[in-house]
Amino acid sequence: MTDDPRSRMARALEALDRASRRRALAPAAPLDGMAVERDGRRLVNFASNDYLGLARDPRLAKAAARGAALGTGAASSRLVSGTLPAHRRLERALCALKGTGAALAMGPGFQTNAGALAALLEPEAAGDAPLVLADRQIHASMHDGLRLAGVRPRRFRHNDLGHLQALLEQHGPGASTILVLTESVFSMDGDRADLPGMVALARRHGAFLYVDEAHATGVLGPAGAGLCAEPEVRGRVDLVMGTFSKALGGYGAFAATDPTVADWLVNRCRSFLYSTALPPSMAAAALKAVELLPGLEPRRERALRLAERLRAALARMGIGTLASSTQIVPAVFGADADALAAARILGEHGVLAPAIRPPTVPEGTARLRFSVSAGHTDENLDQLLQALAALGRVSA
Ligand code: PMP
Repeated sequence: MTDDPRSRMARALEALDRASRRRALAPAAPLDGMAVERDGRRLVNFASNDYLGLARDPRLAKAAARGAALGTGAASSRLVSGTLPAHRRLERALCALKGTGAALAMGPGFQTNAGALAALLEPEAAGDAPLVLADRQIHASMHDGLRLAGVRPRRFRHNDLGHLQALLEQHGPGASTILVLTESVFSMDGDRADLPGMVALARRHGAFLYVDEAHATGVLGPAGAGLCAEPEVRGRVDLVMGTFSKALGGYGAFAATDPTVADWLVNRCRSFLYSTALPPSMAAAALKAVELLPGLEPRRERALRLAERLRAALARMGIGTLASSTQIVPAVFGADADALAAARILGEHGVLAPAIRPPTVPEGTARLRFSVSAGHTDENLDQLLQALAALGRVSA
């Protein structure tokens, strides 16, 4: 008998609930600094990707307001009448930031990864036997691009270049195109890819290297330009994707690449072609953030120093932080229920940090994910460390 989709959904939701995997939205109203209000309580936010504290910087707000005065929306897709001077200015700045010959500013990072990968894997671009080699931990948006392209990736063990090399040697010969996918800073582990090693491997095997710098842009690399801007790899990564939505404090994303690939995306990336251009306010805010980056070294240092303090404290408590070396610090508990309980206890101590569970992270690695920001005060971190100490007392 035909079943109403709603009954199926309700049953599936109950199953998620039983497995502690059901998710729900909970509003968090911004207060001062890194504080938010949830359910009438003040919490220090360690769940925000505003790594440099730019999301509430008056200089960005002013740039956005000036942009919005020209129109709150771009009102058209880029190819129709939506390419505004603000987009061109931003794209020139992104080329300079990433050291590439072209850049395209687009909608959100999810849409950018999904659309760009689908376009790069079209048979006209990639031939009919493409080989995609993807780090096991790449973001869902890249997987969705591969799904759209109908290409199943071969996954290499996380940050394991030996495994990548073995797959290249085994499956590379005969492939019409080889695409290698990674993040430069992994969103859930806070560790870094070995980009010089990957560039060398990609060159040797004639592979196209696609790097998602969502979490590195603004925070790491020379003047915050990201790890793809480090001298050994600058200009040698085939496509650098980054977002305005994290350290740059805004919304939207970009692909920085060479003029031929950019031209292909302008012609074939469906999420670029058939979607309204980035609002002028967001393009202007992103440009302002890029312009401010060289002067924000003290903020970068601060975020990384606070993260180091947090890692040291977690290590003393015997809580693993994987190979984190950035502003993203995981605290791995393993079981879903333990991570959920830890998030709840931290909440009771005035700290907001989400429990991240499979399928977002591998089975058995449920964790708290702390995003450390230059916007956090020393007192904010002290509060987190005290809350973590309370955790130790509860589980002891
Ligand atoms: N790539 C990575 C690695 C991410 O972590 C995210 C967002 N969490 C995205 C892409 C998507 O970016 P956006 O939020 O701008 O859609």
